Formats: sequence, structure tokens, C-alpha cells
Amino acid sequence: KKYVYYFGDGKAEGTGQMKDLLGGKGAGLAEMTNLGIPVPSGFTITTEACREYFRLGKKFPQGMWEEVLRNLKMVEKSMGCKFGDAKNPLLVSVRSGAKFSMPGMMDTVLNLGLNDETLKGLINKTKNERFAYDTYRRFITMFGSIVTDIDRKKFEDLLDEVKNKKGVNLDTELDTKDLKALVEKYKKLYKKETGKDFPSDPYEQLKMAIKAVFDSWYGDRAVTYRRLHGIPDDLGTACNIVAMVFGNMGENSGTGVGFTRDPSTGEKRFFAEFLPNAQGEDVVAGIRTPLKIEELKKRMPRIYSQLEKICNKLERHYKDMLDIEFTIQEGKLYMLQTRVGKRTARAAIKIAVDMVKEKLIDKKTALLRIEPEQLNQLLHPTIDPKAEVKVIAKGLPASPGAAVGKVVFSAQDAEEWAEKGEKVILVRNETSPEDIGGMAVAQGILTARGGMTSHAAVVGRGMGKCCVVGCGAINIHEEEKYFTVGDITVREGDFITLNGTTGEVILGQAPLVMPSLPEEFYTIMKWAEKFSKLQVRANADTPKDARVARDFGAVGIGLCRTEHMFFDPERIKAFREMILSDSVEQRRKALEKIKPYQKEDFIGIFKEMKGLPVTVRLLDPPLHEFLPKTDEEIEVLSKEMGVSVKKIKSKIKTLEEFNPMLGHRGCRLGITYPEVYEMQVKAIMEAACELARKKIKVIPEIMIPLVAHVNELKIMKDLTVKTAEEVMKQYKVKIDYKVGTMIELARAAITADQIAEEAEFFSFGTNDLTQSVYGLSRDDAGKFLPFYIDHKIIEEDPFISIDTEGVGQIMEIAVKKGRRTNKNLKLGICGEHGGDPKSIEFCHKIGLNYVSCSPYRVPVAKLAAAHAKL
Ligand code: ADP
Ligand code: MG
Ligand code: MG
Repeated sequence: KKYVYYFGDGKAEGTGQMKDLLGGKGAGLAEMTNLGIPVPSGFTITTEACREYFRLGKKFPQGMWEEVLRNLKMVEKSMGCKFGDAKNPLLVSVRSGAKFSMPGMMDTVLNLGLNDETLKGLINKTKNERFAYDTYRRFITMFGSIVTDIDRKKFEDLLDEVKNKKGVNLDTELDTKDLKALVEKYKKLYKKETGKDFPSDPYEQLKMAIKAVFDSWYGDRAVTYRRLHGIPDDLGTACNIVAMVFGNMGENSGTGVGFTRDPSTGEKRFFAEFLPNAQGEDVVAGIRTPLKIEELKKRMPRIYSQLEKICNKLERHYKDMLDIEFTIQEGKLYMLQTRVGKRTARAAIKIAVDMVKEKLIDKKTALLRIEPEQLNQLLHPTIDPKAEVKVIAKGLPASPGAAVGKVVFSAQDAEEWAEKGEKVILVRNETSPEDIGGMAVAQGILTARGGMTSHAAVVGRGMGKCCVVGCGAINIHEEEKYFTVGDITVREGDFITLNGTTGEVILGQAPLVMPSLPEEFYTIMKWAEKFSKLQVRANADTPKDARVARDFGAVGIGLCRTEHMFFDPERIKAFREMILSDSVEQRRKALEKIKPYQKEDFIGIFKEMKGLPVTVRLLDPPLHEFLPKTDEEIEVLSKEMGVSVKKIKSKIKTLEEFNPMLGHRGCRLGITYPEVYEMQVKAIMEAACELARKKIKVIPEIMIPLVAHVNELKIMKDLTVKTAEEVMKQYKVKIDYKVGTMIELARAAITADQIAEEAEFFSFGTNDLTQSVYGLSRDDAGKFLPFYIDHKIIEEDPFISIDTEGVGQIMEIAVKKGRRTNKNLKLGICGEHGGDPKSIEFCHKIGLNYVSCSPYRVPVAKLAAAHAKL
């Protein structure tokens, strides 16, 4: 069994394809080595070894350690120095790296192999005593905190003590003597905390570090991160042992991280930061604010252009945007990591479209590069540019968008407040992996320290969350829960607004507006349409919604609910009058008052959707929903209508139902009060006819809700057709209209063959269908469904993603049976599921013609429809 893969001197045993076995980092190191990019030599212990390690109860699998020693010899040879050697020592980093990148989740130990003996060797070799001690104190800190779990803060406190005593701010201002003293303090701390001397045997150090890397796979933060991102627990991590190169050897050394393109906007430019005279973690941890890469261009132009060339080479090879980590040791560049870079939605679409133009990828690949759900980010509101706002500080715009919320100062508070339904902004000096949970629930994140590649920035972008970092002007008192900027104090619970696009921090709640979309968005939508079979319509009840839907490229309205139209104060009066009527005559009179309103609504919507089909659902909810609830309201109604309070109350009583969702609603109302549906059909058809006269094409599709039995549909269809024909005759125009039904009850689905003989289209109302097939009340299931999901009794909330095994099967039956008796049957879905990518994939699979979702989900649905086909 092979547990270890070597890389070095331009040749690697592994490749970039082997992410499962070598983890992302290991695969990247192997690939870069094979591409002839300068990478320090090293080797990767496989994820399989990690899995074995756990299987064996935390023991190295047989033969693994021997392989490690053999590979270490090869690294020694390649680097020309010896592990543990007192004259010319090899130091290594021990780095975790799972298949999926988990920023900051698993910890890395640098400078391993140092002890009092090899330290002498390091001094002798580099003639740089300060550097050697700096390296030593870093090693003890990392080893102590990561491998033996000593609170890192204890090391940092000692460091701060030394700095304070000397009156300096930065580590780089400490001299050899300070660092030497610090090393002694650290060793004492180690002994005090662990009861043992700091391990001086480099091989012992290595063994312990490898174990720690493996163990970190089940560390709390890693487990939380995996849960949040749906990464399985049983993959394990690889462990990379890499010869150290030193960025902390002086001003012609340094370390940096970056992206081959701007991860925020997608712009094609090298986007990176670096810190001179520093080692790896310094940049990411946000302890010192790093310099822009342009600074490197000034200081070391040759290195800069070498980096640019490497970025180009990597992009051409991977055909994607990458992130990179590098270190410069005394004017020589080494690459330490690369992987496909995380990016915002805006960047994702720009990069995808640009790369098609650059002929790096084809259109299909471009579409697959964008997660449908990600598009939602683009549709997030931004701060109204016309609004007057009070900007109190400016940081780095790490992740775009806008966020309004109440300030909290710890991840835990963020979680507690969010639990209570508060919108919060998490404000921290810097974030660390422990804060993930709080970051996930916050509207936005603000940090005082750290650069564009700090933890907060990377995680923020990954989550699509507005984030401002490195806002040095604010003084945060995390413990006391307030921050100051100038003479302004912002306390816990105060509102602030973040502008992640400009980096501005604004006092109070700024007004938000919808942003304009980049041109690439429309290109992607066009391609998505071209490559998908499913069409996307929108659910829209108002002309305004209809316009949004159309702008986003909806090809029709799949559900226009008519009941919302009744809630306007003027209309509800007439509607209540209708409900309270005793005779058909009275009812008709009341309905006559409502009709002009309805007609007006339809004219507005039809106009917006000219030329595209509009599915109008006739009245669906039970009547009692329209009646007043409080005594006060009843009193007012009684006065207005000249009906006694008593009579209204008794009417309300008669309309009450134990189970309204299974009660007198949908076509059951239409059948018992035909004049209601008749009025609605008239309003629809008159609107259509009037527009047709003005040469505006309208395609109404009249939809009968809650049909369970074909006879219900028959009766309602006859009424609809008769009414429609009358209207058309009256207006002397012909309208191309259809009559169809919702399939939202199990009986309807099972008898779809009979129903299809009467219907020209079906629209699956999967909210009600899930309710009726699953026997789950939409309104009450919240009491136990979360428990079911937490305990993995069911995988997912069936109201969010179609339960394909149950509800989905019934849909499939309805599709097959329906098409059997009616070849031209048009099939769609208009439940919430219509905007859910997984459900959309299912709808594609069972051969529906369209999905319909809320207007703002149209882009997501269009891309998901393309993904389903690709
Ligand atoms: P992470 O997964 O958190 O990015 P890494 O294993 O990439 O952790 O290590 C963090 C940083 O440590 C790297 O970006 C790099 O700067 C530094 N580092 C890791 N290995 C080496 C090495 N062999 N020589 C010099 N620096 C290293
Ligand atoms: Mg790390
Ligand atoms: Mg890294």
C-alpha cells in the first residue's frame, strides 16, 4: 500500500487530478511541480492514511512512518540539507489539506525540526541570528498551540509583554536579544502547560505534528464547517510535509497570497497582497495589514513579473481563476499553494464570460461554473446612491453588497441575537475559524484588522456575505461591547450599515435599492436559455412583479393569484358585501362592484406580459380569510354595510372550519358560488379583449384550483368556456385562451388521465400537493420537521425541495397518465419548489414544460434549468 507521494525538482508522483487521495493542497503542489513551477520539495501523506489512522484507533497504518522517513531522505537530498542536522538543518512545514478547501479549518505547523542544536545550524547557515530566533519562537508557538493545544493567546500575551516593555508595535521591531528571551519564556510556558519539556527530537516533533493534522479533521471547527457546507465527515485529510523556505529573512524576503483575477469583481488583473519579512500565517491571520501587490512590483520587479507569468501559466493550465500562496526567500520565489479560487457571484459570471471570450472554456463549461443559487447574491439590494448617509469610517471592500443590522461583538452573540430574529452585523478586530457560526447568521461582517485575503474576507466572499475588513479607524472594545471612531461611540444593539462594494461603514440604517446588473449577467441568461429544455415562468400578482419577471427573462406567468387583489380597502368592502349576501342577486350586485378592479389589474399584468402566456388562478382561499377578525373591525363593517353586528358574527361562525386547508376553498367555492368565478372569467376575458382591440396580444390561461375529481373540472370548465365565449362575442374578437387545472391533490394526480381529457394544461401546486400526499400541514409542520431533519429522519424539508421519492412519484404518475389521454397537455409547476435548483432538476427529468417561481428567483431557475440539461 502506498501512503506517501513525493514531489520535488520538477517531478511529482501525484497529479492535480488526485484530490481525493492527496487533498486539494497536495494535488495542487504536485501539479505545480509537474508544470515546472518552483515549489519546495516535499511529500503528501494520503487521505487514505488518515482514514486508516482513525480506523485503527488513532495509530499510523503499518508502513506509513517508514515511507515518511524514506521520502524525508529524498527531500534532504533535493534541498541539500539534513533533518535534525546541527550544521545544515532541514526544516519542514506540516500542513493539512482535505479534498475541499476549508479556509483556516485545519492548522499548519511551520519551521518544524528546530531545537537548540539545529538552531545553531540555522544561524550558522544563514548568518542571521535574529531570523533564526524569530523562526524558533514562531515554531514553539505553532507547535504548542496546534499540536499540544496550549491556548495561543498565552503565547501572544508573552509576545505583547515583550513588545510593550520595549514600547514597539510590530514583531519586526524586536531584536535578537528580545527574541532569544522570548524563546526561553515560551519553553517555560510549554513545560508549565504540558508538564513536559519541549520535544527536542525532530522526528518526535514530526510524528506529533502529523497526528495533530489528522486529529484536526475531527476538531470542532472543522466539523462545524463541514456541516455548514454539506461536506461528508468520512473523507479525511491529507498531510503535506514541505521543505521550509523563509519569508522572514529580511526585507528582500516576504510572503503573500493572491488571486489570478479579482475575486470580488472578476476583473482580469493580478490581485494579491504581501508582507515583507514575514512568514505565511502573518498575511492570512490579519495581524499586520499587508501591502498591495503593486508595492512588490516597485520593490522586486523581477519577482513580480515572474509571479505574473506563473499566474498566466496556471490559468491556462487549470482554465479557471486560481488563488495562490507564495513566499520569497532572499529574492527567490517559491509557490506554496494553488487551488481554484473562491469568488463572488459577480466575479463568477464575469470570469465565466471572459474565459469564453478568451477561448479558455466553452459556453457549457461557463454555465456549469456558476452555481444557480449564487446568482441570488447579484439580486441583493445595495445602498441607494441617492440617499444621504453618514459615513463614519472606511475599510477594505472585501465582499460586495450591503448589510444593515444591529452591532454585536462576538460570534456567540450574533448567533443568539439571530435566533431571536434580529438582524446583526458582526464587528470584530479580526475573525477566526471559531467565528464561522456567527458569521453565517450575520447580515454582514466588519473587522478592524486584516487585508483582502484575511479570514473574514475569504469566508465572507465564500458565503456571499457583505464584508468590510481592515477598517483601522475604528477602535473596538470587544469585551465592553462598543467601538469608537473619532468622537462617535457605537454600542451593541446600535444600527450600522456596511457597504461591501466601497468599504464604507455607515451610522444607522441606510435605504437600500436593487442594483443594476452587469452585462455579463444577461449573457449568462441568454446562454442558459439556449442550453435548457425547461422554460421558466414567474409567479406574479401585480404589474410590478410582472415587469421584474420579464426583465429577468421569464417567458410567461405561471401563477397569477387573484385573491391578493381583493385585499385593497376599497375592494375588500365589496368582497365582504358579497360574502355577507343572502341571495344570488345580492351577490351578483356586490361582484359587479369588484369586477372593474379585477379587470384593471389584469390589463396591467397582460400589458406587461404582452405576447407571453399568463396563467390566472381563480379564487382559491376559503372565504373566512376575507372577513374581519376583531370586534372593532366588525363594528366598522356593520356600520358601513348596514348589517347588524350579530348577523356578521353569525356569518363568521358559519364560515368557520376546523380544517380550512381541506375545506370550502378552490373550485369547491367556484361550484357552490359560480357567480364568483363567472365574474373573474369575465374580468380576465374583457381585459384580454380590450387589449386585443389595441393590437396587444394576450394569452390567458385560466386555471381552476383544488380539483380532485374530473367532474369538478368539467363543471368549472363549462362555466369558463361559456362565459369566455360570451365576452368574445360581445367584443367581437377572438382570444387564444386555455383552460386548465392545478394538480395539488393526490386524487387529481392519480386520476390525471381523466382530468387531462378536460384540461389543456396542468400546473403542479407542489405546496398543497406535498401537504396532501405527505399528510403534512404547511402551517404546523414547523413544530417537528426541524427535529426530523436534525436527527436525519428525513434528509430535507419537503416544502423546500421536492420529496422526489414520494410526492415526486405521484407527480410522475400524473405526467404519464395525463399525457396518455392528452398528447398536447402542457405541464408546469408553480409551487415554491419552482425556484429550487434540486427540484428544477427533477422537473426537467420528469419532462415538465416549465417551472414557475417568484420573480427574483427567475435567474436562479433559468441557470438551474440549463444545469439540469447539461
Ligand atoms: P492554510 O490551509 O491555512 O492555507 P497552509 O498549509 O497553506 O495553510 O499554510 C499557511 C501558510 O504557511 C502558507 O500560506 C505559507 O505562507 C506558509 N507555509 C506553509 N508551508 C511552508 C513552507 N514549506 N515554507 C514556507 N512557508 C510555508
Ligand atoms: Mg491555516
Ligand atoms: Mg494555504
